[in-house]
Amino acid sequence: MSIYSVAVDGPSGAGKSTLSKAVARELGIVYVDTGAIYRTIGYYIFREGIDPKDAGAVVAALPLIHVDMCYSEDGLQHMLLNGEDVTEQIRLPEISMYASAVSAIPPVRDYLLEMQRDMARRSSVIMDGRDIGTVVLPDAQVKIFLTADVEVRARRRTAELELRGTPKPFEQVLEEMKQRDWADSHRDAAPLQEAEDAIRVDTTDMDFQQSKEAIMQVIRRRTQL
Ligand code: C5P
Repeated sequence: MSIYSVAVDGPSGAGKSTLSKAVARELGIVYVDTGAIYRTIGYYIFREGIDPKDAGAVVAALPLIHVDMCYSEDGLQHMLLNGEDVTEQIRLPEISMYASAVSAIPPVRDYLLEMQRDMARRSSVIMDGRDIGTVVLPDAQVKIFLTADVEVRARRRTAELELRGTPKPFEQVLEEMKQRDWADSHRDAAPLQEAEDAIRVDTTDMDFQQSKEAIMQVIRRRTQL
């Protein structure tokens, strides 16, 4: 198989990015974190003091936003906002809600669609997000729906925030995660949903190695790698 795509969708905190990154390294393919692209738009809106729920104001700002992606030698995906590297800033906890709000606006999704498809045309990718298998890459050779119990996801995210030096109480993380799950799966534009031909991988009772192996197995089975 020459170029192939692996679509990984699922709710926040299921481990999509950590696992996709590790799988990309093992297979020697490119990892595309599409959440980071929405976060970059969200960060611009936050920085300009625009209400992320005001669709008109967000859409009016789009022509002023130029998003680019590049990869450093260690394979890390860097996000450029109008030429400025904002890779760190988009991980601020408050940007999650901004990203979620702007991603519900259809023109924002349309604006980013070609950029994502173009990445998959250029090389083999493992791309994670909410609508990769359903909208962005409906013809992906492999589709995985990665999920886990919401309490487990919140516990993992709490530990991750602590490691990053931006701790938050578990109860708050859980509450925000439930809100984001609800918003992401109930919006009209490309809601989070499992593609009919996706393989579901539930990592509730799996550690990192087991989850990675489960994903590798699905990919091997589908691509004969
Ligand atoms: O994956 P991450 O948590 O970084 O994504 C931030 C937000 O961007 C999500 O809550 C979701 O609303 C949005 N998103 C999306 N479609 C994608 C990736 C992310 O709507 N493909």
